[in-house]
Amino acid sequence: MAVTEDATAIAGELTQLRRAIHAEPEIGLELPLTQQKIVTALDGLPVELTLGSALSSVTAVLRGERKGGGEAGGPVVLLRADMDALPVTERTGLGFASRIDGTMHACGHDLHSAMLVGAARLLSARRAELPGSVVFMFQPGEEGHGGARFMIEEGVLDAAGKRADAAYALHVASAELPFGVFSSRGGPMMAAAEALDITVTGRGGHGSQPHHAADPIPVACEIVTALQVLVTRRFDIFDPVVITVGSFHAGTTNNVIPDEARLQVTIRSFSLEARALVRESAVRVVHQIAAAHGLTATAEFTGSYPVTINDDAEARFAAGVVADFLGEDRYHPQATPMAGAEDFSYVLEQVPGAFIMLGACPPGVDPATAPFNHSALAVFDDMVLADGAALFTELAVRRLTR
Ligand SMILES: [Zn+2]
Ligand SMILES: [Zn+2]
Repeated sequence: MAVTEDATAIAGELTQLRRAIHAEPEIGLELPLTQQKIVTALDGLPVELTLGSALSSVTAVLRGERKGGGEAGGPVVLLRADMDALPVTERTGLGFASRIDGTMHACGHDLHSAMLVGAARLLSARRAELPGSVVFMFQPGEEGHGGARFMIEEGVLDAAGKRADAAYALHVASAELPFGVFSSRGGPMMAAAEALDITVTGRGGHGSQPHHAADPIPVACEIVTALQVLVTRRFDIFDPVVITVGSFHAGTTNNVIPDEARLQVTIRSFSLEARALVRESAVRVVHQIAAAHGLTATAEFTGSYPVTINDDAEARFAAGVVADFLGEDRYHPQATPMAGAEDFSYVLEQVPGAFIMLGACPPGVDPATAPFNHSALAVFDDMVLADGAALFTELAVRRLTR
């Protein structure tokens, strides 16, 4: 039977699984309840399961039975779903809304998990046709916790006995894309994100006698504007960089000069070159502006994701599979990268592949105005589950047999 028909046949079970995960969201690297639901859903399939040590990940390997497949023979395709939720209090009013206060699947990772379980079932049923292996990567901690990096350290890219030849991830969007439309692009797909914490240290004193103190506030202000000048003067406008100082704290009252000022900064970039340059030059600006005024400053990167870069050939291949399999109108080429960040970037640093968006905005709702991912009101329609599972399946089958 056709993959789409088989996917439609299991859509009800995938919806149940998605809603069960949605109702009990978990945050970060430890997702025991979610992990248990995935393991239970994979029960009975001819896959080799490995659970993570540093995090509650699930890796499943399906070995194809067609000549050349199986034990390290034939190509390997990796399919990835993230499983974690966000510290958001859900306000969708859905019947299966989060039962855990302050925690919500506001980025649709519950759908990704269910779609990948669906793909594991569909591909298991096609095992005899597969001339290679499929690695199913169920990953905790995408939302800023670097879960993909931990899974790579624990060997997910080589889980089938050799390095994966291609890797694909799907990500649903509650707005912007019309329902059921897939979108991707070759090259940069998502931004690199860096968190930079700055402390400017001077010497406090009386507000009336600044010459006896070393005031960190005007120096910190100069750093804020110098970082914006850096963006406009140092970077190609066609390879953009964003620097936002989102937090600025210093002092307690009007007539006391404080000892220090603290800034928290997010930096986004879209190429390896711009990223390297902005990391190095932002820190230099901080240190040397402080030094120019006889103060000191520290600038520390406290977290970062690399640029998510799709392989040109793999992105073209994925676009072709969507158009051929579901119809030309179901694929929209994405004109520019998105300024959000993704830790699938760590996988794509080592394995050529593609990160693909999928519109899940409920029919009848305008994707231009619907609440986007991470909103307490974001709604992702279950009806995309069958097509998501089918596309994962079709990508794996065609990539292994091509
Ligand atoms: Zn997210
Ligand atoms: Zn996400």
